[in-house]
Amino acid sequence: PQADPAKGAAVKAADRAHVFHSWSAQELIDPLAVAGAEGAYFWDYEGNRYLDFTSGLVYTNIGYQHPKVVAAVQEQAGRMTTFAPAFAIDVRSEAARLIAERTPGDLDKIFFTNGGAEAVENAVRMARLHTGRPKIMSAYRSYHGATAAAINLTGDPRRWGSDNGSAGVVRFWAPFLYRSPFYAQTEAEECARALQHLEDTIAFENPNSIAAIVLETVPGTAGIMTPPPGYLAGVREICDRYGIVFVLDEVMAGFGRTGAWFAADHYDVVPDLLTFAKGVNSGYVPLGGVAISSAVAETFAKKPYPGGLTYSGHPLACAAAVATLQVMEEERIVEHAAHIGEHVLGPGLRELAERHPSVGEVRGLGVFWALDLVRDPETREPLVPYNATGPANAPMAAFAAACKKGGLWPFVNMNRTHAVPACTVSEAEVKEGLSVLDAALSVADEHMVA
Ligand code: PLP
Repeated sequence: PQADPAKGAAVKAADRAHVFHSWSAQELIDPLAVAGAEGAYFWDYEGNRYLDFTSGLVYTNIGYQHPKVVAAVQEQAGRMTTFAPAFAIDVRSEAARLIAERTPGDLDKIFFTNGGAEAVENAVRMARLHTGRPKIMSAYRSYHGATAAAINLTGDPRRWGSDNGSAGVVRFWAPFLYRSPFYAQTEAEECARALQHLEDTIAFENPNSIAAIVLETVPGTAGIMTPPPGYLAGVREICDRYGIVFVLDEVMAGFGRTGAWFAADHYDVVPDLLTFAKGVNSGYVPLGGVAISSAVAETFAKKPYPGGLTYSGHPLACAAAVATLQVMEEERIVEHAAHIGEHVLGPGLRELAERHPSVGEVRGLGVFWALDLVRDPETREPLVPYNATGPANAPMAAFAAACKKGGLWPFVNMNRTHAVPACTVSEAEVKEGLSVLDAALSVADEHMVA
Protein backbone atom coordinates (compact mmCIF):
# COMPACT_ATOMS: atom_id res chain seq x y z
CA PRO A 1 0.00 0.00 0.00
CA GLN A 2 1.04 3.56 -0.87
CA ALA A 3 1.44 5.75 2.23
CA ASP A 4 -0.44 9.08 2.21
CA PRO A 5 -0.23 10.53 5.73
CA ALA A 6 -1.74 13.89 4.67
CA LYS A 7 -4.91 12.22 3.38
CA GLY A 8 -4.99 10.08 6.53
CA ALA A 9 -4.84 13.20 8.69
CA ALA A 10 -7.72 14.80 6.74
CA VAL A 11 -9.85 11.64 7.03
CA LYS A 12 -9.18 11.51 10.72
CA ALA A 13 -9.92 15.21 11.26
CA ALA A 14 -13.34 15.03 9.56
CA ASP A 15 -14.12 11.85 11.49
CA ARG A 16 -13.25 13.49 14.80
CA ALA A 17 -15.29 16.57 13.91
CA HIS A 18 -18.44 14.87 12.63
CA VAL A 19 -18.70 11.10 13.05
CA PHE A 20 -20.44 9.95 16.22
CA HIS A 21 -19.13 6.44 16.94
CA SER A 22 -20.88 3.39 18.36
CA TRP A 23 -20.39 2.34 22.01
CA SER A 24 -17.87 5.11 22.66
CA ALA A 25 -17.10 8.15 24.77
CA GLN A 26 -16.56 10.36 21.75
CA GLU A 27 -13.56 12.28 23.07
CA LEU A 28 -11.76 9.22 24.42
CA ILE A 29 -11.39 7.30 21.17
CA ASP A 30 -8.75 7.38 18.48
CA PRO A 31 -10.11 5.59 15.39
CA LEU A 32 -7.50 4.34 12.92
CA ALA A 33 -7.92 5.90 9.46
CA VAL A 34 -8.11 2.97 7.06
CA ALA A 35 -7.06 3.41 3.45
CA GLY A 36 -7.95 0.04 1.97
CA ALA A 37 -8.59 -3.66 2.48
CA GLU A 38 -8.21 -6.86 0.51
CA GLY A 39 -8.64 -10.50 1.47
CA ALA A 40 -7.60 -10.99 5.08
CA TYR A 41 -5.72 -7.66 5.33
CA PHE A 42 -6.36 -3.92 5.64
CA TRP A 43 -3.95 -1.00 5.73
CA ASP A 44 -3.74 2.55 7.01
CA TYR A 45 -2.44 5.77 5.41
CA GLU A 46 0.93 5.45 7.11
CA GLY A 47 1.83 2.32 5.15
CA ASN A 48 1.05 -0.15 7.97
CA ARG A 49 -0.69 -3.35 6.94
CA TYR A 50 -2.69 -5.48 9.39
CA LEU A 51 -3.78 -9.09 9.24
CA ASP A 52 -7.43 -8.77 10.28
CA PHE A 53 -8.12 -11.39 12.96
CA THR A 54 -11.54 -9.75 13.58
CA SER A 55 -13.15 -9.95 10.10
CA GLY A 56 -14.47 -6.44 10.77
CA LEU A 57 -17.08 -7.19 13.40
CA VAL A 58 -16.86 -10.91 12.59
CA TYR A 59 -18.65 -10.57 9.26
CA THR A 60 -16.29 -10.48 6.25
CA ASN A 61 -16.36 -14.26 5.93
CA ILE A 62 -15.18 -14.16 2.29
CA GLY A 63 -12.54 -11.51 3.06
CA TYR A 64 -12.48 -7.95 1.76
CA GLN A 65 -13.11 -6.99 -1.86
CA HIS A 66 -13.89 -10.38 -3.35
CA PRO A 67 -13.85 -9.42 -7.06
CA LYS A 68 -16.90 -11.48 -8.02
CA VAL A 69 -19.07 -10.00 -5.28
CA VAL A 70 -17.85 -6.48 -6.01
CA ALA A 71 -18.71 -7.04 -9.69
CA ALA A 72 -22.17 -8.39 -8.80
CA VAL A 73 -22.95 -5.28 -6.73
CA GLN A 74 -21.71 -3.06 -9.56
CA GLU A 75 -23.77 -4.96 -12.11
CA GLN A 76 -26.89 -4.75 -9.94
CA ALA A 77 -26.35 -1.01 -9.38
CA GLY A 78 -26.27 -0.52 -13.14
CA ARG A 79 -29.39 -2.61 -13.68
CA MET A 80 -31.71 -1.88 -10.72
CA THR A 81 -30.19 -0.13 -7.73
CA THR A 82 -33.29 -0.23 -5.57
CA PHE A 83 -36.90 -1.28 -5.50
CA ALA A 84 -39.63 -1.33 -2.84
CA PRO A 85 -40.18 -4.51 -0.80
CA ALA A 86 -43.78 -5.29 -1.87
CA PHE A 87 -42.67 -6.44 -5.34
CA ALA A 88 -41.15 -9.68 -6.59
CA ILE A 89 -37.60 -8.88 -7.77
CA ASP A 90 -35.24 -11.40 -9.39
CA VAL A 91 -32.24 -11.01 -7.06
CA ARG A 92 -34.47 -10.92 -3.97
CA SER A 93 -36.21 -14.16 -4.98
CA GLU A 94 -32.89 -15.77 -5.79
CA ALA A 95 -31.25 -14.69 -2.52
CA ALA A 96 -34.22 -16.06 -0.55
CA ARG A 97 -34.08 -19.33 -2.47
CA LEU A 98 -30.33 -19.77 -1.94
CA ILE A 99 -30.61 -18.98 1.78
CA ALA A 100 -33.65 -21.23 2.33
CA GLU A 101 -31.85 -24.09 0.55
CA ARG A 102 -29.06 -23.88 3.12
CA THR A 103 -30.96 -23.25 6.36
CA PRO A 104 -31.77 -26.40 8.35
CA GLY A 105 -35.08 -28.27 8.32
CA ASP A 106 -38.22 -26.51 7.12
CA LEU A 107 -36.93 -22.95 7.55
CA ASP A 108 -38.02 -22.12 4.03
CA LYS A 109 -39.37 -18.57 4.14
CA ILE A 110 -37.07 -15.58 4.49
CA PHE A 111 -37.98 -12.19 5.98
CA PHE A 112 -35.22 -9.75 5.03
CA THR A 113 -33.92 -7.00 7.31
CA ASN A 114 -30.96 -4.62 7.17
CA GLY A 115 -28.96 -6.36 9.88
CA GLY A 116 -28.88 -8.65 12.89
CA ALA A 117 -30.72 -6.59 15.50
CA GLU A 118 -33.71 -6.08 13.23
CA ALA A 119 -33.73 -9.81 12.54
CA VAL A 120 -33.93 -10.49 16.29
CA GLU A 121 -36.66 -7.83 16.72
CA ASN A 122 -38.76 -9.48 14.05
CA ALA A 123 -38.15 -13.01 15.32
CA VAL A 124 -39.39 -11.87 18.74
CA ARG A 125 -42.46 -10.24 17.20
CA MET A 126 -43.23 -13.39 15.20
CA ALA A 127 -42.86 -15.60 18.28
CA ARG A 128 -45.14 -13.43 20.41
CA LEU A 129 -47.83 -13.31 17.72
CA HIS A 130 -47.49 -17.02 16.94
CA THR A 131 -47.91 -18.08 20.58
CA GLY A 132 -49.99 -15.20 21.93
CA ARG A 133 -47.57 -15.13 24.89
CA PRO A 134 -45.57 -12.16 26.22
CA LYS A 135 -42.22 -13.34 27.62
CA ILE A 136 -38.94 -14.04 25.86
CA MET A 137 -36.08 -15.95 27.48
CA SER A 138 -32.42 -15.32 26.69
CA ALA A 139 -29.06 -16.22 28.16
CA TYR A 140 -26.52 -14.28 30.16
CA ARG A 141 -23.24 -14.09 28.22
CA SER A 142 -25.01 -13.27 24.95
CA TYR A 143 -25.33 -10.47 22.40
CA HIS A 144 -28.37 -10.01 20.19
CA GLY A 145 -28.10 -6.42 18.88
CA ALA A 146 -28.64 -2.83 19.98
CA THR A 147 -32.29 -2.04 19.13
CA ALA A 148 -34.98 -1.98 21.83
CA ALA A 149 -35.89 -5.66 22.15
CA ALA A 150 -32.54 -7.03 20.95
CA ILE A 151 -30.49 -5.04 23.47
CA ASN A 152 -32.73 -6.22 26.30
CA LEU A 153 -32.24 -9.83 25.27
CA THR A 154 -28.49 -9.19 25.40
CA GLY A 155 -26.78 -10.74 28.41
CA ASP A 156 -23.69 -8.55 28.57
CA PRO A 157 -22.93 -5.04 29.88
CA ARG A 158 -23.84 -3.40 26.59
CA ARG A 159 -27.43 -3.82 27.78
CA TRP A 160 -26.97 -1.83 30.97
CA GLY A 161 -27.21 1.60 29.32
CA SER A 162 -30.61 0.71 27.81
CA ASP A 163 -31.86 -1.48 30.64
CA ASN A 164 -35.26 0.15 30.95
CA GLY A 165 -37.20 -2.00 28.52
CA SER A 166 -36.57 -5.43 29.98
CA ALA A 167 -40.25 -6.10 30.63
CA GLY A 168 -41.03 -9.53 29.32
CA VAL A 169 -37.40 -10.69 29.17
CA VAL A 170 -36.33 -13.55 31.45
CA ARG A 171 -32.62 -14.38 31.51
CA PHE A 172 -31.02 -17.69 32.39
CA TRP A 173 -27.55 -19.26 32.45
CA ALA A 174 -26.51 -21.28 29.45
CA PRO A 175 -23.76 -23.91 29.77
CA PHE A 176 -20.10 -22.83 29.98
CA LEU A 177 -18.01 -25.54 31.58
CA TYR A 178 -14.80 -23.52 32.02
CA ARG A 179 -16.68 -20.98 34.16
CA SER A 180 -19.56 -23.24 35.13
CA PRO A 181 -22.52 -21.47 36.73
CA PHE A 182 -23.52 -24.94 37.94
CA TYR A 183 -20.27 -26.12 39.62
CA ALA A 184 -20.10 -28.89 37.04
CA GLN A 185 -16.92 -30.91 36.43
CA THR A 186 -17.82 -32.54 33.11
CA GLU A 187 -19.62 -31.58 29.92
CA ALA A 188 -22.35 -34.12 30.68
CA GLU A 189 -22.92 -32.61 34.13
CA GLU A 190 -22.90 -29.07 32.73
CA CYS A 191 -25.43 -30.04 30.08
CA ALA A 192 -27.80 -31.80 32.48
CA ARG A 193 -27.65 -29.02 35.08
CA ALA A 194 -28.08 -26.25 32.51
CA LEU A 195 -31.17 -27.98 31.13
CA GLN A 196 -32.58 -28.49 34.64
CA HIS A 197 -31.96 -24.81 35.43
CA LEU A 198 -33.75 -23.76 32.25
CA GLU A 199 -36.66 -26.08 32.99
CA ASP A 200 -36.93 -24.79 36.59
CA THR A 201 -36.85 -21.17 35.41
CA ILE A 202 -39.63 -21.89 32.95
CA ALA A 203 -41.72 -23.62 35.64
CA PHE A 204 -41.41 -20.66 38.03
CA GLU A 205 -42.12 -18.10 35.28
CA ASN A 206 -45.24 -19.98 34.07
CA PRO A 207 -44.65 -21.99 30.90
CA ASN A 208 -47.79 -20.55 29.32
CA SER A 209 -46.33 -17.04 29.49
CA ILE A 210 -43.22 -17.80 27.43
CA ALA A 211 -43.26 -17.10 23.69
CA ALA A 212 -39.65 -17.87 22.81
CA ILE A 213 -36.23 -18.95 23.95
CA VAL A 214 -33.54 -17.03 22.05
CA LEU A 215 -30.03 -18.46 22.01
CA GLU A 216 -26.91 -17.95 19.95
CA THR A 217 -26.13 -21.45 18.66
CA VAL A 218 -22.52 -20.79 19.62
CA PRO A 219 -22.41 -17.55 21.64
CA GLY A 220 -20.02 -15.21 19.82
CA THR A 221 -18.91 -11.94 21.38
CA ALA A 222 -19.66 -13.35 24.84
CA GLY A 223 -16.85 -15.88 24.44
CA ILE A 224 -17.40 -18.56 21.76
CA MET A 225 -18.75 -21.18 24.16
CA THR A 226 -19.50 -24.27 22.07
CA PRO A 227 -22.51 -25.93 23.73
CA PRO A 228 -22.00 -29.38 25.30
CA PRO A 229 -23.36 -32.32 23.31
CA GLY A 230 -27.09 -32.67 23.90
CA TYR A 231 -27.75 -29.15 25.21
CA LEU A 232 -29.41 -27.66 22.13
CA ALA A 233 -31.35 -30.89 21.53
CA GLY A 234 -32.49 -30.62 25.15
CA VAL A 235 -33.64 -27.03 24.66
CA ARG A 236 -35.47 -28.11 21.50
CA GLU A 237 -37.28 -30.81 23.51
CA ILE A 238 -38.23 -28.34 26.27
CA CYS A 239 -39.56 -25.87 23.66
CA ASP A 240 -41.65 -28.63 22.07
CA ARG A 241 -43.04 -29.74 25.41
CA TYR A 242 -44.21 -26.23 26.37
CA GLY A 243 -45.12 -24.85 22.96
CA ILE A 244 -42.27 -22.32 23.09
CA VAL A 245 -40.76 -20.98 19.85
CA PHE A 246 -37.04 -21.86 19.64
CA VAL A 247 -35.04 -19.02 18.06
CA LEU A 248 -31.40 -19.62 17.17
CA ASP A 249 -29.44 -16.43 16.57
CA GLU A 250 -26.85 -17.26 13.87
CA VAL A 251 -26.01 -13.65 13.05
CA MET A 252 -22.35 -14.28 13.93
CA ALA A 253 -22.08 -18.07 13.80
CA GLY A 254 -23.89 -18.55 10.48
CA PHE A 255 -22.66 -18.75 6.88
CA GLY A 256 -19.42 -20.63 7.27
CA ARG A 257 -17.90 -19.18 10.42
CA THR A 258 -18.01 -22.53 12.29
CA GLY A 259 -17.01 -24.59 9.25
CA ALA A 260 -20.63 -25.41 8.41
CA TRP A 261 -23.30 -23.34 6.70
CA PHE A 262 -24.96 -22.92 10.08
CA ALA A 263 -23.67 -23.76 13.54
CA ALA A 264 -26.96 -25.61 14.12
CA ASP A 265 -25.73 -28.19 11.57
CA HIS A 266 -23.04 -29.34 14.04
CA TYR A 267 -25.63 -30.06 16.71
CA ASP A 268 -28.31 -31.57 14.53
CA VAL A 269 -30.95 -29.18 15.78
CA VAL A 270 -33.62 -27.27 13.86
CA PRO A 271 -35.02 -24.10 15.44
CA ASP A 272 -38.43 -22.57 14.62
CA LEU A 273 -36.79 -19.29 13.66
CA LEU A 274 -33.19 -18.59 12.70
CA THR A 275 -31.78 -15.07 12.58
CA PHE A 276 -28.88 -14.24 10.28
CA ALA A 277 -26.91 -11.22 8.93
CA LYS A 278 -23.15 -10.61 8.61
CA GLY A 279 -21.82 -13.62 6.64
CA VAL A 280 -24.90 -13.87 4.41
CA ASN A 281 -23.15 -11.40 2.10
CA SER A 282 -20.05 -10.66 4.18
CA GLY A 283 -21.54 -7.24 4.92
CA TYR A 284 -20.68 -5.87 1.48
CA VAL A 285 -24.14 -4.25 1.63
CA PRO A 286 -26.19 -4.35 4.87
CA LEU A 287 -28.46 -7.42 5.00
CA GLY A 288 -29.99 -9.64 7.64
CA GLY A 289 -33.09 -11.70 8.05
CA VAL A 290 -35.19 -14.34 9.72
CA ALA A 291 -35.58 -17.85 8.30
CA ILE A 292 -39.07 -19.02 9.24
CA SER A 293 -40.43 -22.54 9.80
CA SER A 294 -43.61 -23.66 8.09
CA ALA A 295 -45.54 -23.63 11.41
CA VAL A 296 -44.68 -19.99 12.16
CA ALA A 297 -45.17 -18.97 8.52
CA GLU A 298 -48.65 -20.54 8.66
CA THR A 299 -49.67 -18.07 11.40
CA PHE A 300 -49.22 -15.31 8.86
CA ALA A 301 -50.72 -17.15 5.88
CA LYS A 302 -54.14 -15.53 6.11
CA LYS A 303 -53.48 -12.81 8.66
CA PRO A 304 -51.08 -9.97 7.89
CA TYR A 305 -47.66 -9.90 9.50
CA PRO A 306 -47.51 -6.55 11.32
CA GLY A 307 -43.91 -5.64 10.54
CA GLY A 308 -41.82 -4.34 7.65
CA LEU A 309 -38.89 -2.23 6.54
CA THR A 310 -38.44 0.16 3.61
CA TYR A 311 -35.24 -1.61 2.55
CA SER A 312 -36.35 -5.20 3.25
CA GLY A 313 -34.59 -7.31 0.63
CA HIS A 314 -32.78 -4.37 -0.95
CA PRO A 315 -31.62 -5.40 -4.45
CA LEU A 316 -27.99 -4.35 -3.91
CA ALA A 317 -27.81 -6.34 -0.67
CA CYS A 318 -29.53 -9.33 -2.26
CA ALA A 319 -27.21 -9.23 -5.28
CA ALA A 320 -24.28 -9.29 -2.87
CA ALA A 321 -25.85 -12.29 -1.08
CA VAL A 322 -26.45 -14.24 -4.29
CA ALA A 323 -22.86 -13.67 -5.43
CA THR A 324 -21.45 -14.41 -1.96
CA LEU A 325 -23.31 -17.72 -1.67
CA GLN A 326 -22.23 -18.71 -5.18
CA VAL A 327 -18.61 -17.84 -4.46
CA MET A 328 -18.72 -19.72 -1.15
CA GLU A 329 -20.01 -22.78 -3.00
CA GLU A 330 -17.58 -22.53 -5.96
CA GLU A 331 -14.52 -21.92 -3.83
CA ARG A 332 -15.57 -24.41 -1.12
CA ILE A 333 -15.14 -21.70 1.49
CA VAL A 334 -17.18 -23.44 4.18
CA GLU A 335 -15.09 -26.61 3.80
CA HIS A 336 -11.95 -24.47 3.88
CA ALA A 337 -13.04 -22.83 7.17
CA ALA A 338 -13.60 -26.31 8.66
CA HIS A 339 -10.16 -27.45 7.46
CA ILE A 340 -8.40 -24.37 8.84
CA GLY A 341 -10.12 -24.82 12.21
CA GLU A 342 -9.35 -28.49 12.52
CA HIS A 343 -5.82 -28.60 11.13
CA VAL A 344 -4.24 -25.15 11.43
CA LEU A 345 -5.90 -22.56 13.66
CA GLY A 346 -7.25 -24.86 16.40
CA PRO A 347 -4.03 -26.88 16.81
CA GLY A 348 -1.93 -23.70 16.53
CA LEU A 349 -3.86 -21.95 19.30
CA ARG A 350 -3.67 -25.06 21.52
CA GLU A 351 0.07 -25.14 20.98
CA LEU A 352 0.29 -21.47 22.09
CA ALA A 353 -1.76 -22.33 25.18
CA GLU A 354 0.78 -24.97 26.16
CA ARG A 355 3.57 -22.41 26.19
CA HIS A 356 1.67 -19.42 27.63
CA PRO A 357 0.32 -19.81 31.15
CA SER A 358 -1.98 -16.78 30.65
CA VAL A 359 -4.10 -18.85 28.25
CA GLY A 360 -6.65 -20.52 30.53
CA GLU A 361 -8.72 -22.14 27.83
CA VAL A 362 -8.82 -22.43 24.04
CA ARG A 363 -12.25 -23.13 22.58
CA GLY A 364 -14.02 -22.89 19.24
CA LEU A 365 -14.35 -24.44 15.82
CA GLY A 366 -13.94 -23.38 12.19
CA VAL A 367 -12.62 -19.80 12.14
CA PHE A 368 -14.37 -19.02 15.42
CA TRP A 369 -11.95 -19.32 18.37
CA ALA A 370 -11.53 -17.73 21.79
CA LEU A 371 -8.54 -17.60 24.11
CA ASP A 372 -9.73 -17.08 27.69
CA LEU A 373 -6.86 -15.23 29.37
CA VAL A 374 -6.31 -15.63 33.10
CA ARG A 375 -4.17 -14.21 35.91
CA ASP A 376 -3.92 -17.66 37.44
CA PRO A 377 -4.67 -20.93 35.64
CA GLU A 378 -5.50 -22.64 38.96
CA THR A 379 -8.25 -20.23 40.09
CA ARG A 380 -9.12 -19.24 36.49
CA GLU A 381 -9.27 -15.62 37.66
CA PRO A 382 -9.71 -13.58 34.45
CA LEU A 383 -6.69 -11.54 33.33
CA VAL A 384 -8.84 -8.41 33.85
CA PRO A 385 -12.04 -8.07 35.92
CA TYR A 386 -15.46 -8.39 34.22
CA ASN A 387 -16.21 -5.25 32.17
CA ALA A 388 -12.97 -3.55 33.26
CA THR A 389 -12.02 -0.14 31.83
CA GLY A 390 -9.05 2.22 32.23
CA PRO A 391 -6.12 1.06 34.37
CA ALA A 392 -7.96 -2.15 35.43
CA ASN A 393 -7.97 -3.17 31.76
CA ALA A 394 -4.25 -2.41 31.23
CA PRO A 395 -3.16 -6.05 30.70
CA MET A 396 -5.61 -6.53 27.83
CA ALA A 397 -4.72 -3.11 26.39
CA ALA A 398 -1.02 -4.10 26.47
CA PHE A 399 -1.84 -7.41 24.78
CA ALA A 400 -3.82 -5.62 22.02
CA ALA A 401 -1.05 -3.05 21.51
CA ALA A 402 1.51 -5.85 21.10
CA CYS A 403 -0.69 -7.51 18.45
CA LYS A 404 -1.02 -4.27 16.48
CA LYS A 405 2.69 -3.60 16.73
CA GLY A 406 3.24 -7.05 15.19
CA GLY A 407 0.83 -6.30 12.31
CA LEU A 408 -2.20 -8.21 13.57
CA TRP A 409 -5.52 -6.54 14.35
CA PRO A 410 -6.94 -8.46 17.33
CA PHE A 411 -10.50 -8.99 18.52
CA VAL A 412 -10.47 -8.21 22.23
CA ASN A 413 -13.45 -8.47 24.59
CA MET A 414 -12.95 -8.30 28.36
CA ASN A 415 -10.35 -10.99 29.27
CA ARG A 416 -10.56 -12.73 25.92
CA THR A 417 -9.09 -12.49 22.49
CA HIS A 418 -10.95 -14.13 19.64
CA ALA A 419 -9.21 -15.48 16.55
CA VAL A 420 -11.90 -14.85 13.95
CA PRO A 421 -10.25 -14.26 10.57
CA ALA A 422 -12.05 -14.56 7.24
CA CYS A 423 -13.20 -18.07 6.30
CA THR A 424 -10.88 -17.68 3.30
CA VAL A 425 -7.75 -17.11 5.41
CA SER A 426 -4.80 -19.14 4.10
CA GLU A 427 -2.61 -21.49 6.14
CA ALA A 428 0.32 -19.09 5.74
CA GLU A 429 -1.79 -16.17 6.98
CA VAL A 430 -2.94 -18.17 10.01
CA LYS A 431 0.68 -19.05 10.78
CA GLU A 432 1.64 -15.38 10.52
CA GLY A 433 -1.20 -14.52 12.92
CA LEU A 434 -0.19 -17.23 15.36
CA SER A 435 3.37 -15.96 15.51
CA VAL A 436 2.16 -12.42 16.36
CA LEU A 437 -0.19 -13.85 19.01
CA ASP A 438 2.76 -15.80 20.41
CA ALA A 439 4.70 -12.60 21.06
CA ALA A 440 1.64 -10.73 22.37
CA LEU A 441 0.78 -13.56 24.77
CA SER A 442 4.24 -13.17 26.30
CA VAL A 443 3.10 -9.64 27.22
CA ALA A 444 -0.10 -11.11 28.75
CA ASP A 445 2.01 -13.66 30.69
CA GLU A 446 3.83 -10.78 32.40
CA HIS A 447 0.55 -9.61 33.94
CA MET A 448 -0.21 -12.83 35.78
CA VAL A 449 -0.10 -13.20 39.56
CA ALA A 450 3.51 -13.66 40.67
N1 PLP B 1 -26.88 -11.26 17.09
C1 PLP B 1 -25.60 -11.66 17.22
C2 PLP B 1 -25.31 -13.06 17.64
C3 PLP B 1 -24.56 -10.77 16.93
O1 PLP B 1 -23.28 -11.16 17.06
C4 PLP B 1 -24.87 -9.45 16.51
C5 PLP B 1 -23.81 -8.49 16.18
O2 PLP B 1 -22.67 -8.66 16.51
C6 PLP B 1 -26.22 -9.09 16.40
C7 PLP B 1 -27.19 -10.02 16.69
C8 PLP B 1 -26.62 -7.71 15.96
O3 PLP B 1 -26.37 -7.54 14.62
P1 PLP B 1 -26.31 -6.06 13.97
O4 PLP B 1 -25.13 -5.38 14.59
O5 PLP B 1 -26.19 -6.33 12.50
O6 PLP B 1 -27.59 -5.38 14.31
